[in-house]
Order: sequence, then structure tokens, then C-alpha cells
Amino acid sequence: MSQRLLVLGSTGSIGDNVLDVVARNPQACIIHGLTAHHNIEKLYQQCLKFRPALAIVSEPHHAIELQANLQAAGLNTEVQCGTQALCAAACAIDCDTVVAAIVGAAGLPPTLSAAQAGKKILLANKEALVMSGALFMETAANSGATILPVDSEHNAIFQCLHGAQRAPGEVERLILTASGGPFRNRPLQTLDQVSPDEACAHPNWSMGRKISVDSATMMNKGLELIEARWLFDIPAEHIEALIHPQSIIHSMVVYRDQSVLAQLGTPDMRTPIAHALAYPTRIASGVEPLDLAKVAKLTFEEPDLARFPCLALALEVIREGGGMGIVLNAANEVAVEAFLARRIRFTNIAWIIDEVLQKTPGIAVTSFDEVMEVDEQSRRSTYEAVQRLGRSTHYFAS
Ligand code: NAD
Ligand code: MG
Repeated sequence: MSQRLLVLGSTGSIGDNVLDVVARNPQACIIHGLTAHHNIEKLYQQCLKFRPALAIVSEPHHAIELQANLQAAGLNTEVQCGTQALCAAACAIDCDTVVAAIVGAAGLPPTLSAAQAGKKILLANKEALVMSGALFMETAANSGATILPVDSEHNAIFQCLHGAQRAPGEVERLILTASGGPFRNRPLQTLDQVSPDEACAHPNWSMGRKISVDSATMMNKGLELIEARWLFDIPAEHIEALIHPQSIIHSMVVYRDQSVLAQLGTPDMRTPIAHALAYPTRIASGVEPLDLAKVAKLTFEEPDLARFPCLALALEVIREGGGMGIVLNAANEVAVEAFLARRIRFTNIAWIIDEVLQKTPGIAVTSFDEVMEVDEQSRRSTYEAVQRLGRSTHYFAS
């Protein structure tokens, strides 16, 4: 039977790829709901194509406009707005599968709602696990929710584990591969001059702007190490990052007997999406076949923590444990936004996150309300740090 799909963040990069795979496999799923933040024109076009029962936006005036346009086009899609509507849709009985593809902390409430309701969740929004890993996984276990990773590294590991929880000690290490982003070889002293567009020009993947900057700083890999720790219930000291510039091996599992299993493929998010959509079966993804003779060479190197201080900060947070992931994530979101808005330099991102982490005493959270409080407080501290920096330095004028 077709699964009824709610795509949270359908107008984003992951959302686009999900809809592309769905269009190739109409037998596999029915689009029940689509959601967007502000891009209502794109959401309108998606509604025309997929005719969902529900569409959700963030602003009331956008909801009114979209509802009128859809009615005029002869569609009876119901348009709603706000976080409450996202959460209600994610736990509603008329949806089976929720694709969590909203970027950032805004994705946590509806993804949590889906976890509480025992849904099948295709998880792209890594920030949800970085913020609330243990609580989130416990909620999903209690409700019987299934979490299928869409992040390519985690999807690769899931495939190498054959989707099974392994017995303690069977898995020795998880190796998350990382491309190293656009600045892997750029002279260090020029990094304070890079523009948002240069930071978003990823060599292998086409993604949203926030995760593209995270890839350039390698904070993305730091967030992914935390995501893997919770998703696979493996102690953080058994998970490592390895630079692999070609992005052909998407990650690896080292077993106790020293077998190393890897998942390979052309770097295209439609492969992990198709895998998660159809699991445990396989469907077509539209991805170019991998031509290894053409790739010719796969190379690997250790990440340089002096070049990637954000990765060093994430590793400290992982060692410290507790609720520091919430602080790391919030500070990173605010700092990246400030960089994209040209209010701070690329190299200020790590500096600001470090300052906010240093000022925050060890944190333990026991509820989602506390998670949201720490998130809020950390954002405030980061805005202040951005403003202080703004008063004390000159920025690029371009
Ligand atoms: P994107 O910026 O392209 O899209 C984000 C989507 O979320 C859009 O539909 C936008 O309308 C919606 N959105 C943004 N802010 C919102 C808010 N406050 N409330 C409601 N909706 C909001 O991002 P993306 O690259 O598609 O990434 C989405 C998530 O998937 C991120 O968590 C990212 O880390 C993860 N991810 C992305 C990729 C990728 O290849 N793009 C790979 C792995 C993981
Ligand atoms: Mg990834």
C-alpha cells in the first residue's frame, strides 16, 4: 500500500529531492502534505503538481494568499499556518510517514510530534538530534516510531549495519566521511576574506545555504558526529570523521573482526532518500550510476583542526556531553545567519561559538521544554556576541 507522506520543508534542497524521487515512484507514496517557510510561489507550484490534502506556511497572510490561489486553480488543498499546525499535521492519523527536512531548530517541534505519535520518520534535520538526542530517541522508542536516516553519512552507516541494532561490542568504530568543503586547500590567511557565495559553493553537493556554510566550516561534520552518537547508540569515542574529498564513500562501519563495510555512490541525496522511502525494498532514484573507473582515485586524510576550529569545538562538546549540543547548535545557527547576512566574517563563526560555549556552564536537560529554554538563551547570548563584534571590527564592504 502507498504510504501517505508529509514533507516538512518541501521547498528546500532536500524537499526538492524528495519530490523528485516521489514523482519517479508514484506507486510508492501519496503526498499528503507539503510545507514551506516563506516561499509560497514554489509551494504553490508543488501543490499544483502533487495535489496534497494539506499545505502549511509560517505567516497568516501567506496562508490566505496561497489558499485563494489554490482555490482559483480548482484545488481543495487546505492551507494552514504556524508551528502548531506543523505539529498537528506530523502526528495526524491521515499521514504515515514524515520527512523531517526543515532546516535548524525550527524542525524540532514537528519532528518530535511525529516521534511521539509513532510515525515513520525520514530524518534529514540533524539539528533535532543534536539538540535533544537522548530525549528524542527515548520518545521514539516509547512510541514505536521508526527513524530512517536521510543524511547521507548516517544512511550509509544504517545500510552497513543492515538496519539492525548490533550486539554490544560488535561494532568497533563508525567512520563518517567528509569532503572537506570548498576551503580544504585554501591558504589559511585568506579565510577571513571569503564571501557567503564562496562558502556556499560546495565542490560535490548542492544544498541549502546554512548546511553549505556548515560544510565549509566542517561544523556539519561535528553536528553529524553527535547525530550518529544518538542515532546508532554508540559511544562518541567510537565515532570519527575522515576527509574523503571525492564524496564517493558516504561512510563506513568497522566491525570487531576488522571487516570494514562502506556504502558508495554518486554524491546525490536522492540515493539516501530513495533508500529511506522504500526501506526495506529498493526503488529507482534517478541518480547517475557510479563510474569507478572514471573516479579513478579515492583519497583520505585526517581533518586539520586548526583549519576547521568549528569541528574542534564540536569535538569538545561531544566530550563534555550533557546539553551542550543545544548551545553549540543555537550559537552556530545565529553565527551562520550573521555571516550569510555579511555581518561577520567567515572566521568569526568559530570565534563567536567558542565565546558562547565558554560562557555557558555545564548543562543537563531533562525535558523538551528545557531544551527550548536553553536554545532561546543561547541564541540571545550569540546575538549579543555578534553585536559586540560588530562594534569592534570592520567587515567586508563588498
Ligand atoms: P533548505 O534551506 O534548502 O530548506 C529548508 C526548508 O525548511 C525550506 O522548505 C524552508 O521553507 C523550510 N524552513 C526554513 N525555516 C523554517 C521555519 N522557521 N519554519 C518552517 N519551515 C522552515 O535546507 P536543506 O539543505 O534542504 O536542509 C534541510 C535539513 O536537511 C537541514 O537540517 C540539513 O542539515 C539537512 N540535510 C540537508 C542535506 C542537503 O543535501 N541539502 C543533506 C543532509 C542533511
Ligand atoms: Mg551529511
